[in-house]
Amino acid sequence: MSEKQDLRSEIPTHAYISLARRGMEKISLDQCFLKDCDNQDVNLLEPFKKEEFEDDKKIIKKISIRCKKCNRTFILKLETIKKVAYSTQKKDEEPLSMGIVYALDDKDHNLGHIGYF
Ligand SMILES: [Zn+2]
Repeated sequence: MSEKQDLRSEIPTHAYISLARRGMEKISLDQCFLKDCDNQDVNLLEPFKKEEFEDDKKIIKKISIRCKKCNRTFILKLETIKKVAYSTQKKDEEPLSMGIVYALDDKDHNLGHIGYF
């Protein structure tokens, strides 16, 4: 696998948005989150850089993606909260974790919380 395919595999394909009364909506992360761009073609999105940070509570991955439609760059920030809950029944089970995804522009300005993965 090339490095770029590796980066793509780091990105969840979907996120879930919670809708107050109607459950969860599933949205694709294969889209450009920049203002005034409607690119939803995965072939026009090129992940090219990854930064990763970890502490005892969470893992943060920031993946920079170039949009070939608007020729700009945005960042998907994937925050995984570790050990949200342990199962009391099965001690050998992996603790549950939860992920939150945000979009940032290329200057690290937050474009908003997208959803959960
Ligand atoms: Zn775009």
